[in-house]
Amino acid sequence: MIKTHILGYPRIGAQRELKFALERHWRGEIDEQALEAVAAELRARHWADQRAAGLDFVGVGDFAFYDQVADHVLLFGCAPARFGFTGAETPLQQLFTLARGVATEAHDDCGCGHASHGKPALEMTKWFDTNYHYLVPEFDAATRFALAPDRLLDQVAQARTLGHAVKVTLVGPLSFLWLGKAKDGADRLALLDALLPVYCDLLARLKAAGAEWVQLDEPILGLDLPGDWSLAFERAYHLLHGAGVPLLLATYFSPLQENLSLACKLPVAGLHVDGVRAPEELRPVADWLPDHKVLSVGIVDGRNIWRADLDACLERLRPVLERRAGAVWLAPSCSLLHVPFTLAHDAALDAELRTWLAGAREKLNELRILKQVLTGGERAVAMDLAAARAALAARRASPRVARPDVAAALAALPPDADRRAAPFAQRQAVQRARFDLPAFPTTTIGSFPQTPAIRAARAAWRRGELADAGYDTAMRAEIAHAVRVQEELGLDVLVHGEAERNDMVEYFGEQLDGFAFSANGWVQSYGSRCVKPPVLYGDVARPAPMTVAWTAYAQSLTARPMKGMLTGPVTILQWSFVRDDQPRALTCAQIALAIRAEVCDLERAGIGIVQIDEPALREGLPLRRASRDAYLDWAGRAFRIAASGVADATQIHTHMCYAEFNDILPAIAALDADVITIETSRSDMELLAGFGAFAYPNEIGPGVYDIHSPRVPATSDMVRLLRKASAVVPADRLWVNPDCGLKTRAWPETEAALRNMVAAARLLRDEAGGGTVQAA
Ligand code: GLN
Ligand code: ZN
Repeated sequence: MIKTHILGYPRIGAQRELKFALERHWRGEIDEQALEAVAAELRARHWADQRAAGLDFVGVGDFAFYDQVADHVLLFGCAPARFGFTGAETPLQQLFTLARGVATEAHDDCGCGHASHGKPALEMTKWFDTNYHYLVPEFDAATRFALAPDRLLDQVAQARTLGHAVKVTLVGPLSFLWLGKAKDGADRLALLDALLPVYCDLLARLKAAGAEWVQLDEPILGLDLPGDWSLAFERAYHLLHGAGVPLLLATYFSPLQENLSLACKLPVAGLHVDGVRAPEELRPVADWLPDHKVLSVGIVDGRNIWRADLDACLERLRPVLERRAGAVWLAPSCSLLHVPFTLAHDAALDAELRTWLAGAREKLNELRILKQVLTGGERAVAMDLAAARAALAARRASPRVARPDVAAALAALPPDADRRAAPFAQRQAVQRARFDLPAFPTTTIGSFPQTPAIRAARAAWRRGELADAGYDTAMRAEIAHAVRVQEELGLDVLVHGEAERNDMVEYFGEQLDGFAFSANGWVQSYGSRCVKPPVLYGDVARPAPMTVAWTAYAQSLTARPMKGMLTGPVTILQWSFVRDDQPRALTCAQIALAIRAEVCDLERAGIGIVQIDEPALREGLPLRRASRDAYLDWAGRAFRIAASGVADATQIHTHMCYAEFNDILPAIAALDADVITIETSRSDMELLAGFGAFAYPNEIGPGVYDIHSPRVPATSDMVRLLRKASAVVPADRLWVNPDCGLKTRAWPETEAALRNMVAAARLLRDEAGGGTVQAA
């Protein structure tokens, strides 16, 4: 028997209805009841989609007002004591307090995807290797669990009333604990014994409420788990098994490897595996999983937007079906949360491209077609199959995709194209002689405030109401203003301010061949926030310079060095939906080549310093340790290809933020950027200790203040941080800068903060006495 199901569906709504309702609610414009009504309507609509595609169950539990992990915190009654919930709050009030903190306007984003910090909301972090952010449960020795199932049971009841067969989706107990953060040295795993009875209770309640299956997501089975964690699985699932509702253990994102036999052995009714990320494990799982268990194969890619190659899917499924005597469930590889709702009618994509793509809704249809074919109903879907084959053939043959000129340019790159001509020490000497910067040189990360006026000008220009010339004049005025302010403040290395950029990836993608942009391809990032990743569909090429005119104009206004500002190849790759018909490494190398050309053009235009931002370098790291070196190799090479086309006297900066970098320091050093500016201020320079211990060889600008808060940092705070930094990094290699771009800030606080920052740098210079120039 073949069944179809999904692990989860996008909840934000085809027109982002949930986002807008949430934001109205937070502004006090609609009450909880009205918000709940929107949610109920969305769920009903999404279940109807699933039903229409012939799925055997609809999913309940994948809906969340903010985040599914936060829902589990309330479901298990383990909100941290510091929130001081008394029970007088409504569940929604509690949820939004966990998510947004108690201060109003807790959210403030710089484009890196994170909310502001220092507010008492739960921390956010990325869900495995996706761009979705979950709220991190906090555990401590006092953590207790108490089931609060009503909201979930209401949703089951809603689905049942609508006549649906229900499979409830939950995060499994081990993954839930793993994803949390233990405070005061508490041991997360030690909480398992207290948590399991609550899960058992919940499972029993779900069964009584009519759930036919419960899916327990344990994606941590795809990680390199410590022994005590993998051991705990058996104990946990023996207990859960007792609740009597059929359990589907769901794994995804990463191969099971050494956990494969464990996953097959656990006392559950079914196992879901990711046949897209780990196709090589389909056979062994089909062999190892006892015959009485259901094998659910994640066959349609839940992480990307390409229309499935149905023939290849069928080919992959056939031996599995044979081995399992025909009893297999088909599903997307993971929750469809990570793809847009639909791309089938997107107004901004051309008709041909649209036929190459599949959003969540189209993926449901792919499951329907596969099931039909495998159950002997191929005739009924002959037209669908033909359309899918034609689209795929067109994509394969398209001159928009494969460009011989790009392949030739890559092939022509000499093997040492990813190496600067001279080693760092020599470059440093040449650059110091050229720029003659003071000790503790000051700079910023690139962007200055994106004011309402800038946004309005861009919107008008995009609507066609402002002509190119008018837009150009407006942006030049902003650049001139930014340059004037920086000169007045006494910064040493200036930037043009990125007024003309909407987004650090989109700005480049829009000017590169091989990228397309949807009008409505939104994917939830966190809470009500959505991102619209570019679609990287073809070989990447740069038809014309992208930043040179703006940067050269900025340089023409000042005698100080103007830093050119580019987004790096790894970050552009990481924040796009990338093609699945060639390795990511190759796509990344193509982007690198385009950025390299831009770097060289900037140099030719007289720009002596170029920054290549790679905030997403860390997040591309594979979940499995064994795959990390290979990734760091090609990612690092891509960065260096972009950076290494210039003379020794040209100074290359890079910038990174929002991640734990200490575990990849050798790879960061291997980028061989002359200067790295890095976010450190929120962890009070802890990160820098890693740089010190590792003896990072090049120059470093540790962020000396947190740009995510409008608070103006005191000079003394920054002096203190810089002293701390000088203790671990030789002072003559330190730069002074904020920890990220300033685009989300307003001008008054920006000027005040930078004024204090420059004062801090001067103070340190004076203290160092004599050493007023970066020692050559
Ligand atoms: N240059 C970019 C800016 O200043 C860097 C943004 C980022 O790190 N995400 O906005
Ligand atoms: Zn940053």
